[in-house]
Amino acid sequence: SATPTIRLNDGSTMPQVGFGVWRVSNEEAKGAVAGAIEAGYRSIDTASIYGNEEGVGEAIRSTSIPREELFITTKVWNDRQGYDSTLQAFDESLARLRLDYVDLYLIHWPVAGSEAYRDTWRALIKLQQDGRAKSIGVSNFMVPHLQRLIDETGVTPAVNQIELHPRFQQKELQAFHKANGIVTECWGPLGQGKILAEDTFAAIGRKYGKTPAQVILRWHLDHGFVVIPKSVTPSRIRENIAVFDFQLDADDMRAIAALDSASGRVGPDPAVFA
Ligand code: NAD
Repeated sequence: SATPTIRLNDGSTMPQVGFGVWRVSNEEAKGAVAGAIEAGYRSIDTASIYGNEEGVGEAIRSTSIPREELFITTKVWNDRQGYDSTLQAFDESLARLRLDYVDLYLIHWPVAGSEAYRDTWRALIKLQQDGRAKSIGVSNFMVPHLQRLIDETGVTPAVNQIELHPRFQQKELQAFHKANGIVTECWGPLGQGKILAEDTFAAIGRKYGKTPAQVILRWHLDHGFVVIPKSVTPSRIRENIAVFDFQLDADDMRAIAALDSASGRVGPDPAVFA
């Protein structure tokens, strides 16, 4: 069945499941992304720092799916923040992708100790006005960063892409996003593979004939989040998108809610990452 979509605050829509390509080489990306599109994914999440925008672009051109049916995200890396440097970094990303627009452009990190993200955001607003980034958003932003962008520009990011999974549920950001019309996009939805062995997911999966990864991704979808699981294994690529034919019940949701932990983060902390 087709991937459900989520409406963004700028009127665009975004597939609720996408394919993440961090730590996928340029060479690998061609096959993996083409395979993902073949398996039904329509949204691809890359970044300039991943070093695979060329491979992603080649995969896009190799499929028979029209460009307008795909949703392509890339991100500006920390060392290119600032107004002019972001506009230039964006041009370079488009050139590597060989696209004339992206569907979503994100500020990759707020960068601890710097306030350049404010000028970077103004560059993203310009790119959206020019139609070269259909939607604009941020990644790894905390509440004060988001509030500042909204206060200073009046433009609310369409999405905030953050680490979020059952072991690290980010309740404060969830609430802020909801109150401000920001879509929560979850990176590391499977805890980068480190949370899959938790018994709860296998137990719930047995009820529905689903795997632990599918139970976790279904939990995200039932919360209205966007997810971008990553795999280069064809069977797992298919598994991770076969999540639209079941739903978790209240007991399942309660059991997973109980797994939240303040120390559950698996990636860098944006409060200190620069
Ligand atoms: P993830 O939670 O998607 O886990 C991926 C790992 O889990 C795989 O490498 C594999 O080992 C395992 N896995 C995947 N599917 C599986 C399955 N069905 N069964 C068993 N094991 C499985 O972690 P991620 O790759 O870090 O995050 C997903 C995407 O999010 C990335 O590829 C990237 O696009 C994005 N991301 C963004 C940021 C950011 O700062 N904005 C940071 C990290 C990741």
